Amino acid sequence: MVSPDGPEYAPASDTENGSPPETAPPGPDLPGPLRLHADTGVCAGAGQCVRAAPDLFDQGDDGLVVLLRADVSEQERERALTAADWCPSGAVSVHETS
Ligand code: SF4
Repeated sequence: MVSPDGPEYAPASDTENGSPPETAPPGPDLPGPLRLHADTGVCAGAGQCVRAAPDLFDQGDDGLVVLLRADVSEQERERALTAADWCPSGAVSVHETS
């Protein structure tokens, strides 16, 4: 999908048993600053994003994702990409901002 914010990474892969994969796949080719988006409309409340990046995601009382901060620092980059990869519903996407 083309985003007005720039290229987007939203993994199509899914985990069959709801557990995160043993290792995160290599990140996409998004060299610039990253911005996160979390779509509560498709969130399934699995919580994998919180496991991958608890500094960036939380879950509300209803179990749905709460994005704590959209702008991703360089130190958080890998965790943000992992969260997008682990999300079984595709609710987490990462956009390059430049
Ligand atoms: S955004 Fe994805 S990983 Fe996070 S709680 Fe929702 S379904 Fe689970």
